[in-house]
Amino acid sequence: MKRRTFLLGTASGFSVLALAACVAPAPVPTPSVSPTTLTPSLVPQPLMVSRTNWSTDAFSRGSFSYAAVGATPEHRTALGEAIDARVFFAGEATAGEEPGTVQGARASGVLAASQVQDVAAPDERIMVVGAGIAGITAARQLVDAGFSVVVVEARDRIGGRIDTVSGDWPFAIEHGPSFVHRSSDNFLDEELTALGVTLLPFVRTPEVRTRAGSVVEVSPLGAQAVAGALDWAADQQQDVSVERALVDSGEAGLSTTANAEGLADADWLEYEIATKLKVETGATPSQQSAWYTTDIASADDDQIVVGGYSTLLTSDAEGLELLLSSVVNRIAHDDRGVSLRLGTGESLSADRVIVTVPLGVLKAAAIEFSPPLPFAHRGAIAALGMGVVDKIWLRFDVPFWDTAARLWTIVGEDADFPVWINMMPLTGEPILMGLVAAENATRLSDLDDDAFLAAALTALEPFLAVPE
Ligand SMILES: Cc1cc2nc3c(=O)[nH]c(=O)nc-3n(C[C@H](O)[C@H](O)[C@H](O)COP(=O)(O)OP(=O)(O)OC[C@H]3O[C@@H](n4cnc5c(N)ncnc54)[C@H](O)[C@@H]3O)c2cc1C
Repeated sequence: MKRRTFLLGTASGFSVLALAACVAPAPVPTPSVSPTTLTPSLVPQPLMVSRTNWSTDAFSRGSFSYAAVGATPEHRTALGEAIDARVFFAGEATAGEEPGTVQGARASGVLAASQVQDVAAPDERIMVVGAGIAGITAARQLVDAGFSVVVVEARDRIGGRIDTVSGDWPFAIEHGPSFVHRSSDNFLDEELTALGVTLLPFVRTPEVRTRAGSVVEVSPLGAQAVAGALDWAADQQQDVSVERALVDSGEAGLSTTANAEGLADADWLEYEIATKLKVETGATPSQQSAWYTTDIASADDDQIVVGGYSTLLTSDAEGLELLLSSVVNRIAHDDRGVSLRLGTGESLSADRVIVTVPLGVLKAAAIEFSPPLPFAHRGAIAALGMGVVDKIWLRFDVPFWDTAARLWTIVGEDADFPVWINMMPLTGEPILMGLVAAENATRLSDLDDDAFLAAALTALEPFLAVPE
């Protein structure tokens, strides 16, 4: 099958060719498991495998929030509004700055705890639902201020989406966040370093390969087309999807004539979408707001954590009263206080509660609120999107690759795993981390571990060392 035919033939693919032919954005068809994912790959079998499945995780239901078409930063503010000074909200989806990140979640925890401090009497009992970074941060601040605090967490561990796995791996691997992006007011890297956690600089200059394994220079055409489309969208009367902006601005109309390497200008737009837009948001261009899509800053200050992201929570959680393995399914409040009902049927009462569960949990209405959430909260929950990014970690006996590049990407096909991190130059271990995002992640979430691994190994074929 020719590459271009293959591209158009994949059910999961975003294709500028298909796009340019559309008048209205076509819904992504329900994908089926491709038999190609079960074909044995030329890539050797790894010694160890670890995958994530955040979209089917009942206590996350996605990876992080993104700005869906029509969503605005005001929706995040609305979601973070306290109700009757009894029910407070925190979590990455409520963050005004850097939502979808560890630092955004943490700042939201600080804000919610400060809001509670503004209204609560010193002897009050406060409950915090969720022991992720937002919940633990809020609880720590309130305990340090003298309040009696109980953290109620559905999982049997703290950390939420910060999920460091040690086991037999030569270094702790991360199922959730791996990166810290240093900004003017975010010093997470310094804190982690002070806690003894290893962080390594991670310059995001990718090695780009075609399906055939040729290394090619990144063309700026894709990034330019996206930037042009977003500029166009900024002048429109209403928000549109990134996909619509690409089509209606004319930026998607790149040449589809292949050069000697088999690549066309249009491939670089697909590349930009697969390796950046989808991976940064967990959403397809048809889902993302052209007004508020993640600002993909040049992330030259990024650092990768190889020594245990969850260490960030350990010292803050010390001495906190934690109720683990306790699923909250109802939160009621009146002017006297709040009451939580657990999955076991037990009830807990307190003066106030901070709810830090992920947006995906709120979208699924997994917690009943009584009285029902105000319209502004429900509107925000509906408007904001929950993206999906999953990871696969592979440990090999010896490297099957001969490149020392840290970041690998694939151009010219809609690879299920278009982005790989090579931990070999960083740690000396032949370990790779692959990323699958948006509709590809949702489709692969249905696969069993063998089929998921097969899809990952197929995506790695361009990186097989060429025999001398
Ligand atoms: C694959 C992946 C990669 C990421 N990469 C990065 C990165 O490189 N850099 C970065 O900064 N960020 C990254 N993030 C995002 C970052 O992990 C999150 O923004 C942050 O950890 C969210 O913290 P939180 O406290 O808001 O939510 P969570 O950590 O999800 O905490 C919420 C808690 O609520 C609990 N809960 C849910 N439902 C219930 C219930 N009914 N009852 C009781 N408890 C409940 C959950 O179990 C969880 O512990 C990534 C996330 C994922 C999934």
